[in-house]
Amino acid sequence: MKERLLGKTPSELTEIAKACGLPAFAGKQMAQWLYQKRVRSIEEMTNLSKQGREALSQHYQVGLTAPVDVQESRDGTRKYLFPFESFFVEAVMIPDQERRTLCVSSQAGCKMGCRFCMTGRQGFHGNLDAAAILSQFFAIEEAGQLSNAVFMGMGEPLDNWEQVKRVLEILTADWGLAWSPKRITLSTIGVLPKLKLFLEESKCHLAVSLHNPFPGERLELMPVQKAWPLEEIIGLIKQYDFTGQRRVSFEYTVFSGWNHSPRHADALLRLLRGLECRVNLIRFHAIPDFPYKPAAAQQMELFRDRLEKGGITATIRASRGEDIFAACGLLAGKHNIV
Ligand code: SF4
Repeated sequence: MKERLLGKTPSELTEIAKACGLPAFAGKQMAQWLYQKRVRSIEEMTNLSKQGREALSQHYQVGLTAPVDVQESRDGTRKYLFPFESFFVEAVMIPDQERRTLCVSSQAGCKMGCRFCMTGRQGFHGNLDAAAILSQFFAIEEAGQLSNAVFMGMGEPLDNWEQVKRVLEILTADWGLAWSPKRITLSTIGVLPKLKLFLEESKCHLAVSLHNPFPGERLELMPVQKAWPLEEIIGLIKQYDFTGQRRVSFEYTVFSGWNHSPRHADALLRLLRGLECRVNLIRFHAIPDFPYKPAAAQQMELFRDRLEKGGITATIRASRGEDIFAACGLLAGKHNIV
């Protein structure tokens, strides 16, 4: 298969241009075609010589993958299905007044095995490369209207840091899409060594899947707690500044009778003390063969109120796209075997 140009930086494109007999400045022109004009074929790069385009096409392709299916929810949320080698991944576009947020997948399946997550149940099938991640931005109908992106789809983005970092650079660089990093949030369960790199090398917002402040209880549903304990994750985050433009939030899925008692709220307050942050309470979406059920609205409100009283901003997040299985924890790729 021909190598894909999508996902390459201008310096890499310059090397490719030179190897194909094009002048060095063609690398910069190719970056413009790929990221600003978003062409789908090398043929469309009309300011490159015809001969140069032919030489490029012998070994390279643009590499944009088109979705093979789209489903639309009652609330306007749209779920796109993308083929990835022998597997499928999903991206979700969530409209909210003027905003169009893309929930992006970074891996086919996931290694992390969180027990409440449909993606985790599939096991791991591969990392998406930058071209496959960027295709989710470029090949959907709302490509030109996207205002925000959250790396919260299938997979653990920090477990594919090399490719995700490349995409973040392309999204935020002047030669790329020139988005402000404030438009992007990366969500992780806390892959400690890579989290440090993300905090150092990016200015994008951070969301951490927390779900329970007690290590033993968290371990019940999140095996990752063993390798990278939550206390170490929070300790690391506290070394960085979140009092300015950059934000950190904690995702807290509420399971009836498991993690919303006053004891949990107080432990969470102690854990996050001193950190400028927000807690997002998420309604659990029941999945087959899993013992816990969604918490009632009133249980979530009581928990939120105790956190707010303790000085932490907490919000109950509206669920989107539940009727098309696009809500949190439900992405599985309808053609994949779970
Ligand atoms: Fe992976 Fe996230 Fe699902 Fe956990 S919740 S298994 S990290 S996709």
